[in-house]
Amino acid sequence: MSDATPSGSAPRPDVMDKLVSLCKRHGFIFQSSEIYGGTGSVWDYGPLGVELKRNVKDRWWNAMVRARDDVEGLDAAILMHPRVWEASGHVATFTDPLVDCRKCKGRFRADKLEDAACPLKPSRHPGEFEACDLTPPRNFNLMFRTHMGPVEESASVVYLRPETAQGIYVNFLNVQQASRQRIPFGIAQIGKAFRNEITPGNFIFRTREFEQMEMQFFVEPATDMQWFEYWKAERMTWHQALGLEADRLAFHQHTAGELAHYARAAFDIQFDFGGTLGFQEIEGVHNRGDFDLTRHQEYSGKKLEYFDQPANRRYTPFVVETSVGADRVTLAILVNAYREESVPGETEGRTVLGLRPALAPIKAGVFPLVKKDGMPEYARRLAADLRRVVPVFYDESGSIGRRYRRQDEVGTPFCITVDGESLSGDTVTIRGRDDLAQVRVAADQVGAALSALLAADVTDARVSDLGAA
Ligand code: ATP
Repeated sequence: MSDATPSGSAPRPDVMDKLVSLCKRHGFIFQSSEIYGGTGSVWDYGPLGVELKRNVKDRWWNAMVRARDDVEGLDAAILMHPRVWEASGHVATFTDPLVDCRKCKGRFRADKLEDAACPLKPSRHPGEFEACDLTPPRNFNLMFRTHMGPVEESASVVYLRPETAQGIYVNFLNVQQASRQRIPFGIAQIGKAFRNEITPGNFIFRTREFEQMEMQFFVEPATDMQWFEYWKAERMTWHQALGLEADRLAFHQHTAGELAHYARAAFDIQFDFGGTLGFQEIEGVHNRGDFDLTRHQEYSGKKLEYFDQPANRRYTPFVVETSVGADRVTLAILVNAYREESVPGETEGRTVLGLRPALAPIKAGVFPLVKKDGMPEYARRLAADLRRVVPVFYDESGSIGRRYRRQDEVGTPFCITVDGESLSGDTVTIRGRDDLAQVRVAADQVGAALSALLAADVTDARVSDLGAA
């Protein structure tokens, strides 16, 4: 982990195209409405993707809510009173500067031209090719608007929320009073957010519908910077614990020009996605002062103050926010985990998703060595037993080598094989995805062995560390 985005070093390889194809092939992520030609920058999570993303969200929820006594959970609705978005400033200022090219009809974010390629001359950025004819920038509001009820009139306008945080602010007193929390304390939630992005792209990096995991921590005004530093460190540690390599993570401090007008301080946590994308924000940690609660008090006419009983003092708390995209972190995890390597003694290389076992959608593959002699029946029974403990996948098709490779590609950390010795001696082998070690264990000990390997919660859980049966 570094303090600022590293520059000057050679970029890491771009694995995005290979990853998109792996994700589709194995059922992690599909394009939305694909049979109709797809919807712009909206994605569906398939059987393995939904498990991976759920594991990410569970880890966040456990770390941020369940493991703490100073953060409460919330699940606020997507549709909110339209005044919420006037109070928050989104109606007036949640805009990006949009430019059109009169020549190629392309549409770009004026502040991100360096991230875009000119459609007529992809080696140049828009505006740099002589034929480019860009309009002056105009502001474009990113909120999706719709209408509540059957009549489409201005009085019935509602917005799909562009962030989950406002649901937390408007419930600040409800939660505080119901949970009897005292400041400092936080409210956390996971939920969908929608932004009509001008230039979405890079797979699930920037989409128009996505999920956020946000936490607002309410503190006494003079203590805000102290809590800001605390949450910066906590959140970086969380990303490292997902297995994201330390030197692919960096803090980026918002400069005066980048800071929102109300923010007292802001840092992004960035991840190096490799290729031209490089280091990009995956999470924002913001010191928002008392801006949000003050604005909601003004617009709603309701007090959102905290009464500090021991000090007999009333005040509007300051807020430190941590805001991370579940999809963007899932992409970071996939990019970080993707590797192609040669295998000693084999001519064909392999593709591996080196996911932490705790994040892997499938924890163990269970295979009969051959499809005869009672091995499939034995293996099916074992798979059914293990399924009560962890998600397992039974596979009897193709050569054993191909079955191992398929599981390597989807990040399954362990594979259990039933062979002739299983039938005579009730033992099976466990093979490790990363150390490629194969250890024979008693069949009735496999569940315990898997639990021990998973509990270790390290990237390279080593099967070779298990004792033999
Ligand atoms: P960016 O500058 O990348 O658009 P932002 O600064 O607008 O992001 P925030 O409003 O701070 O982002 O949102 C917090 C987090 O939500 C981001 O760090 C990111 O992980 C996620 N996020 C925001 N917009 C999108 C999007 N369009 N698609 C996927 N994730 C997103």
